[in-house]
Amino acid sequence: MNIILLGPPGAGKGTQAHRLVAGRGMVQLSTGDMLRAARTSGTEMGKQVAAVMDAGQLVTDEIVIGLIAEQLDSNAGNGFIFDGFPRTLAQADALGELLKSKGSRLDAVVEMQVDDEALVGRITGRFTCGECGEGYHDIFKKPAVENVCDSCGATGAFKRRPDDNEAALRTRLMAYYKDTSPLIGYYYAKGQLKRINGLGEIEEVAARISDALDG
Ligand code: AMP
Repeated sequence: MNIILLGPPGAGKGTQAHRLVAGRGMVQLSTGDMLRAARTSGTEMGKQVAAVMDAGQLVTDEIVIGLIAEQLDSNAGNGFIFDGFPRTLAQADALGELLKSKGSRLDAVVEMQVDDEALVGRITGRFTCGECGEGYHDIFKKPAVENVCDSCGATGAFKRRPDDNEAALRTRLMAYYKDTSPLIGYYYAKGQLKRINGLGEIEEVAARISDALDG
């Protein structure tokens, strides 16, 4: 089953994608993670997109479609989870074509609904373990021992995203409403949209996603 997790920044797409990977053997394709990896490894493309990402703007369709196209030949496990892609109608069209060319298709689009007030609070306090990727939050999910990852035990490896600040978040939200939210109507019209409440405990939201996918 191939699915898209759709929702504004801070809706919890990455967190829920990790759960689907662990629970269902699906493969997460996050264009945000791919772009951050390109920056870390210092590729030409990584250098090109750095300022755009830090400002919270969208990188070009051409770049992200290229990144996804490269991954579609990899082992799909029990299906791909597209996380943070597509973000524009052009990307949505391209994804449909790419999947078709592989003899595959999209099965569901899960829209995670979270109100804007909650997003600001979620994003401005979040950080992750640089070793294992486990996500934390200053208020909602502190590590049991300060500075030590609950999940892998790494010490002093926590990091924050440079675009998780209020100014960049405003730009990211604007890009979501302007460029990405039209995808809700697009997939609704295709009969693929499933809406779930993205507020609540991680487990609760995971159960809603499971119901939406299996129901
Ligand atoms: P994310 O980790 O999904 O929040 O993405 C972080 C940043 O990477 C975004 O704010 C954009 O600058 C860029 N980005 C990620 N995915 C896309 C995409 N599908 N289209 C355009 N820009 C993207």
